[in-house]
Amino acid sequence: MTSLPKLPLLEPRADTLEKCVYCPKLCRAACPVSNAEPVETLTPWGKMSMAYFAARGDVEIDPLHAEPAWACTGCLGCRERCDHKNEVASTLTLARGELYARGVAPAGAVRAQEIALRREPDVAEAARAVDGGAGKDARVVLVVGCGYLLHHQTVARQAKAVTEKLLGQPVRVATRCCGLSSLEAGDTASFRKRAQAMAEEIGSAEEVVVVDPGCARAMMTDYPAAEVTIKPPRLLVDVAHDALARFSTLGEAPPRYHDPCRLGRGLGRYEQPRALLEKIAGAPPAEFERNRGRADCSGGGGLVPLTFPDASRGAASARAAEHERLGGGTVVTACAASLRRLQTVGADAEDLVTWLARGLGVGTE
Ligand code: SF4
Ligand code: SF4
Repeated sequence: MTSLPKLPLLEPRADTLEKCVYCPKLCRAACPVSNAEPVETLTPWGKMSMAYFAARGDVEIDPLHAEPAWACTGCLGCRERCDHKNEVASTLTLARGELYARGVAPAGAVRAQEIALRREPDVAEAARAVDGGAGKDARVVLVVGCGYLLHHQTVARQAKAVTEKLLGQPVRVATRCCGLSSLEAGDTASFRKRAQAMAEEIGSAEEVVVVDPGCARAMMTDYPAAEVTIKPPRLLVDVAHDALARFSTLGEAPPRYHDPCRLGRGLGRYEQPRALLEKIAGAPPAEFERNRGRADCSGGGGLVPLTFPDASRGAASARAAEHERLGGGTVVTACAASLRRLQTVGADAEDLVTWLARGLGVGTE
């Protein structure tokens, strides 16, 4: 009998995969995808088991067995609840790369990659519109994130105004995408190429400030893994938090804060956004029932809106419903994907950047 092909790039993750395969699924309640679509193969255990079987050559490498690897928003909720702090999301990202290269990625992932490449000129044009040409010789590069540039241009403009106000100098808006969408699609070669292009655009800038936590995490953790070197970026939320005293208190009803997965569990920023909202509103933000490390995902990440749209919408609707049940009002997040996802299910969602702009009295014209 001929043996089935294996996935060699997953060999270094054998221990991680085995931990999940032999686990009684202790993290299952954390997964926004299997909570929205309660199917065993979509639990963290199911996805890791399928990747394990594919890696060992126990199942056919085909679209059916490949699909679960894309049923992950990258929310890191399972890692938070795991005694081993098992790296499910990054292991599934590796699996996506192997499966995409073998031509068995789901149609949604392939489409996402095609859209991302086709939109590159649109991202550049949107960035130039936000930049306005004034930052040509600036020493600071601002990576806004294509999610903001394409879908939330007002927030992108506010991010530029806030950064310039806080740093006291003009900034140049990066015209490229960080490439995260290619990594999430599974096209690792394209991700490396796009990351390299971003590194070239940043060039010798003295400082790099990043708005979207998805871009920030890609640049901080996935670029080094792809051997792409850039100047370590600063998060805009950190720049703002370091200047907390400069924000005015508006004395408005405090919003509810939603921890974006990549800013919270991904980058450990739980208190900085809350401190900023408290300073600007004049009272601490309201909370979801589970928050900080245990916060629930809004379903916007990992290309899940394209690969598992029902699960993505289900996760976002659950967040919006909980928000209403707890009293409604405005919900503030700090990630373009989360902002868009919450708005598309009807939540009155705003970005933290909008509050920063109001607290500084800039970018609101
Ligand atoms: S992430 Fe941890 S808790 Fe979840 S299935 Fe894997 S080993 Fe078990
Ligand atoms: S990272 Fe989030 S979406 Fe992915 S398997 Fe874990 S809990 Fe589910």
